[in-house]
Amino acid sequence: MTVRVRLAPSPTGTLHIGTARTALFNWLYATHVGGKFLLRIEDTDKERSQDKYTTNILEGLKWLGLSWDEPPVIQSEQIEDHRKAIQSLLDSGLAYRCYATEAELEEMRDSQKNKGKAPRYDNRHRDLTSIEESKFIEEGRSAVIRFRIEDEEIITWNDLVRGHMRWSASDLGGDMVIARRASPQEIGPPLYNLVVVVDDSTMNITHVIRGEDHIANTAKQILLYKALQLKPPEFAHTPLILNQEGRKLSKRDGVTSISEFKAMGYTAEAMANYMTLLGWSQPESMQERFSIEEAAEFFNFDRVNRAGAKFDWDKLNWLNSQVIHNWSPEKLLNSLKPLWIKEGWKLPNHEWCISLAELIGPSLTLINDGINQSRPFFEKPVLDNDGINQLELEGAKAGLKCLLENLERTPWDGIDQNQAKKILTFTAESAGIKKGLLMKSLRAALLGRLNGPDLISTWSLLARISEDSTRILNSI
Ligand code: GLU
Repeated sequence: MTVRVRLAPSPTGTLHIGTARTALFNWLYATHVGGKFLLRIEDTDKERSQDKYTTNILEGLKWLGLSWDEPPVIQSEQIEDHRKAIQSLLDSGLAYRCYATEAELEEMRDSQKNKGKAPRYDNRHRDLTSIEESKFIEEGRSAVIRFRIEDEEIITWNDLVRGHMRWSASDLGGDMVIARRASPQEIGPPLYNLVVVVDDSTMNITHVIRGEDHIANTAKQILLYKALQLKPPEFAHTPLILNQEGRKLSKRDGVTSISEFKAMGYTAEAMANYMTLLGWSQPESMQERFSIEEAAEFFNFDRVNRAGAKFDWDKLNWLNSQVIHNWSPEKLLNSLKPLWIKEGWKLPNHEWCISLAELIGPSLTLINDGINQSRPFFEKPVLDNDGINQLELEGAKAGLKCLLENLERTPWDGIDQNQAKKILTFTAESAGIKKGLLMKSLRAALLGRLNGPDLISTWSLLARISEDSTRILNSI
């Protein structure tokens, strides 16, 4: 049997980190066992589904390095199959039309609430006589279609993450709506649990891997599989991603979309690596930093935790910096260049750009940190407070003036590491100041601030594109 798994995103928003993590676990499992990873776009909620979200979701998955093995199935195109399944349930008496109005249902729930009971449909139209039914139709009532759920039934399955699962059907809220309200001659728009069962079965899905917020749905879906005489797949429910307070990570926690993480300067490698660790522990033989291909070699459900996974920015940032620090200067430049161009900076030759990428690379946590780190190389630096204070120190400006005088005698575009070191030593001596003071002041004059990459490399890189020494002059 070939393992076939799927991600079934609803295109009602951008690719959420929770959905992306579910995609990743599906992909890791499929890759581990040599199975197929499929996509189904669940676009039946026509009001909230938008093409731009489908595009965002597919692009996000691709960016993370996840590819799928067959063209995505579009759920709304399967509607005839959904209707057929509903009709068969109606024919076998396992589903029926419920004519209760919204007002009646509201009243029912209020009365349950007043008695301190959990709201549930009381199955009131389960066994209508044909006379009762005709009366409702004559009144012009519309109807939803409900699937019968027998309260006595116990639903069990062996969850690949959570082990033996047992649900009492009486906890499922009464007979379940499987098609929205429509005229009694029609089958209204089919609803989630029904369509998922039909589609997973049509797509020959063998393993449904999804978040634990779907556990109650799984119980309902198992009943539908049985009623439709279909074989249920295996189920694996993955832990939720939690915020710092231990609640489900949501929009209120700020960044949750993969495209937002990308825009902030996170790399696909670090995101995929980090998301794999959200709920899965790698074997001891593996480092924390790995590619998804490496993870796929070892991925199994025994190492998926049951407890929720707390989102940890520090760890993600650490992984991201590790990824960037391991990139070649060429690869880093590919990511930096568009950012530099967006800033409107005119880029010198390729070789210079590579040197700059190489210089700032080790100090980057996010790719986007490369904007501020590179700014003084493209724009006249603005002195920050530390820079101002540094140049106010006794001997600082005099030392820089002396440096300029010495530079007059040196071709400005010719400064190399050795020469620069020599000039600095010589200048400090002749100006009678400490070399450290001179170097710190030079850094302030060149970059506007006291921190940054190696001073001499910075200086010689700047020297290669500067016509003269005005940068230093501007500051003193
Ligand atoms: N469209 C559902 C969701 O996005 C799919 C759930 C499932 O995997 O069955 O939550």
